[in-house]
Amino acid sequence: MAELKATVKGKFLESEPMSKHTSYGIGGPAWAYITPKDKHDLGNLLRFATESDIPVYFVGSGSNLLVADEGIDGIVITLGKSFTHLDISNNHVYAETGVMLGRMVKECIKRNLSGLESMIGVPGTLGGALIMNAGAFGGEISNYLQKVEVMTLTGDLKNYSVDEIDFSYRHSSFNEDEIIISADFEMQETTSAVIQEKRSLASQGRKKNQPLRFRSAGSVFKNPKPDLAAGYLIDQAGLKGTRSGDAEISEKHANFFINHGSATANDIATLIRIARKEVKEKFDIILELEIKTLGFDKDVFTP
Ligand SMILES: Cc1cc2nc3c(=O)[nH]c(=O)nc-3n(C[C@H](O)[C@H](O)[C@H](O)COP(=O)(O)OP(=O)(O)OC[C@H]3O[C@@H](n4cnc5c(N)ncnc54)[C@H](O)[C@@H]3O)c2cc1C
Repeated sequence: MAELKATVKGKFLESEPMSKHTSYGIGGPAWAYITPKDKHDLGNLLRFATESDIPVYFVGSGSNLLVADEGIDGIVITLGKSFTHLDISNNHVYAETGVMLGRMVKECIKRNLSGLESMIGVPGTLGGALIMNAGAFGGEISNYLQKVEVMTLTGDLKNYSVDEIDFSYRHSSFNEDEIIISADFEMQETTSAVIQEKRSLASQGRKKNQPLRFRSAGSVFKNPKPDLAAGYLIDQAGLKGTRSGDAEISEKHANFFINHGSATANDIATLIRIARKEVKEKFDIILELEIKTLGFDKDVFTP
């Protein structure tokens, strides 16, 4: 630990509760939770971890993340709060992946650059959005992407053009061993009226349908088909309002599982198993997780 601390110039937190870094407010301690200062610092950290055989995990702002109560035995690296450079020139956007998606969306809207306005209200960093191919109300982050820059576990930089990565609904084919550090986009210039209309449709839809007053990680499962929502299936299985400890399948949106205050990861995992079991029995459909999980045994989410 001392040697690792000496390597890192950025912010270093030891035995850091991940509950402080997830939108669920859930998760046990990470052995080390590190925000590297810059690319050089990140490279040194990754090389040190690789040479010392310490596992590393990348996170953004934890808004799509369920972390086990037992925590994470390794180094958790986030670029949020340090890799926050955003540069917009004409319709070209360059952003480091610690930039909050909401900031990027607002800066584009200000300049009448269209493409991301339907994602207003999606929490998280650009890094998380790229991995998840985050999207809302018809728009996806990959739609206007040109290229990304990543760093490997040996601290080397690599670039990928958008055609080298597969993107589909809440899926990207990025290599799990590479941390995305920046991305370039070409947005579309349009009028303020067009953008404002899409933006307000998205904001209203979100307020109407989502339990935004409570802690959650957004949708727990992927929709099995574009016209078949996971929330509809969970609702039809009669599960709205089902509780495990302080966790609940939301009455407002059955694909949102909410933390009323002291829910544990085990509580959420229990609800996941219940939803999967009931939906399988009733509709013969196996729901696939949209949220990412860290620190669990493989079978925890299988009914
Ligand atoms: C109230 C609410 C509403 C939501 N609505 C939507 C919605 O409408 N649409 C939608 O798509 N999502 C939605 N989400 C989910 C979430 O906001 C998105 O998935 C978001 O893009 C996650 O970003 P993050 O920075 O929090 O990523 P995290 O949750 O921290 O991480 C997500 C994944 O990305 C990886 N990752 C993060 N940063 C990097 C990086 N730099 N390099 C490599 N890997 C990285 C992590 O390892 C993890 O696998 C919602 C969540 C909440 C709480």
